[in-house]
Amino acid sequence: MKRRLSLVFVLSIALFGAYLQGQGGPRPSVLDVVKVQDDLFVIHNAVVPGNVTVLVTNEGVLLVDDKFAVDYDNIVAEVRKLTPQPIKFVISTHHHGDHTGGNAKMQEAGAQVITSEQTRKYMVDGNLPGMPMTTFDRRGFVHLGGKSVELYQFGRAHTGGDTFVYFPAHRVLSTGDAFTFGDETPQLVDYAGGGSAKDWPYTLDGALQLDFDTVVPGHGLVTTKAELRKFRDSTMAVRTRVHQMLVEKKTKDEIWQVLQSEFRWNQFQQRSVDGLMIELQ
Ligand SMILES: [Zn+2]
Repeated sequence: MKRRLSLVFVLSIALFGAYLQGQGGPRPSVLDVVKVQDDLFVIHNAVVPGNVTVLVTNEGVLLVDDKFAVDYDNIVAEVRKLTPQPIKFVISTHHHGDHTGGNAKMQEAGAQVITSEQTRKYMVDGNLPGMPMTTFDRRGFVHLGGKSVELYQFGRAHTGGDTFVYFPAHRVLSTGDAFTFGDETPQLVDYAGGGSAKDWPYTLDGALQLDFDTVVPGHGLVTTKAELRKFRDSTMAVRTRVHQMLVEKKTKDEIWQVLQSEFRWNQFQQRSVDGLMIELQ
């Protein structure tokens, strides 16, 4: 029950991250640090808010996402336990406040925020703090301390600007919310933010072509490429099933019942059903 409540909370945050960011977000999360490799870590917490990937180099630190503004001090404290190097870059995988909330404070402290151009547009539309001065389109690179990080957009999924961050030497991929891991964290299509259930499986096909073993999801525990593949198949199953029901002239309520029973969608995904019915007919 407790887990379900926290899941409900995170899904709410994911969809209304921008709004919550404006409100200052919830209380700081209790953080754990997961060591992936000697120089690559994930600052993780019990589902809320999203994961932070940390790359340590001898020229500075690169982060992927930075939770809410209220988590800033604790994130910096965790990074300080790993290295005295300054945080030089923050890649925001998408615009939601549980992934970009720390951006403004990171910038004040000297870090450069990078997003896809599309994600910047959603940040501008939402008047979100911590906007990037540097963006990329489809593919970008960051080189720091002899290590290279590759940024990819493979298309629409959770939002219209989703970025995958690839660490080729580590064989690790950070996905943002294009992949959330856990039985009770199904896909969440943010239609207002450019998301697409129709494109989602093909976007993940692009990511799966990269050569990696380990996956850092937007929310949930660090996992494997096989789990990302399973999640991709579930996004295709939603797409196929809803389209089939629309061909059969099923009602919105009938579709909603199937999404809950077969795909574990919950009340916070319910607001995506109208968009799903328009997109998948
Ligand atoms: Zn999100």
